[in-house]
Formats: sequence, C-alpha cells, structure tokens
Amino acid sequence: MSKSATSCLCGSVKITVENVNPQFTVCHCESCRAWGGAPFFAVQCGTDVKIEGTEKVKMYNSSDWADRGFCTDCGTHLFFKFKKSGEYNMPVGLFPDLKGLEMSMQYFSDQRPDYYCFSNETKELTRDEIISYFASEL
Ligand SMILES: [Zn+2]
Ligand SMILES: [Zn+2]
Repeated sequence: MSKSATSCLCGSVKITVENVNPQFTVCHCESCRAWGGAPFFAVQCGTDVKIEGTEKVKMYNSSDWADRGFCTDCGTHLFFKFKKSGEYNMPVGLFPDLKGLEMSMQYFSDQRPDYYCFSNETKELTRDEIISYFASEL
C-alpha cells in the first residue's frame, strides 16, 4: 500500500489516494471494454480518496452496484466507485510510478473475447461467480 497522487490528462481533476493497492485487477466485462475500448486495469484505492476539481467530474450510473467517473474536459476515465461501500477502483495507468504493480485477479473471465489473452497467472472469477457475490452484498 502506498500514497499516490495523479491527475487527468488536462489537469482539471487532481486525485490523492492514501492507500493504493498495487495488486491490480483486470475486468473483461462488456461494460468495461465498451467504456475504455479494452479490459479495465484497476487499482483498489479504498475510500480515503481526495478529489479536487469535482465540478469537472461527471458520474455515470453504470450498474446497480457502481458508478463510473470521468473528466468532462478531457474525458480521462477517473474511477469506478462502488455505491454501497464508497470504495474507488481507479485505472492503473493513472499511477505510473506505483511500486510493486502486479496483476492479481481477472474479473468476468468468461466474457473475455478470443482476440486477446494475458499470460499473467492470476485468479479469475466468472460472471456467475461475481453476480452471486454481489447478490449477497446488495
Ligand atoms: Zn481532464
Ligand atoms: Zn467490468
């Protein structure tokens, strides 16, 4: 865990995270791939997050359990925020200097299309496994 700061491409939004987990996750779901054009590489940032320039942050209600935030000026994807816990997952690319980055989990592994595949050895969860997890959480 380490403290890290970042900003969007245009600099309107600045983010400081007290504890970034360098064990990042990958989501292969259709929403993430449509949102970013590719699977979503995310670091878990918990709730101890300071965001400056919130007037430039647009939230999109992307599912029953989470919102997605982006900068209204430059379009940089800023976070995936869980509604119930208030925890943030943020794109790993926002934190290039983070030490110890390691792919630890692949979500929606059964929704990964055939045109790419990672050689990293990670844990995986399928759509059904995730839905049953969130069903018990909601
Ligand atoms: Zn921006
Ligand atoms: Zn996803």
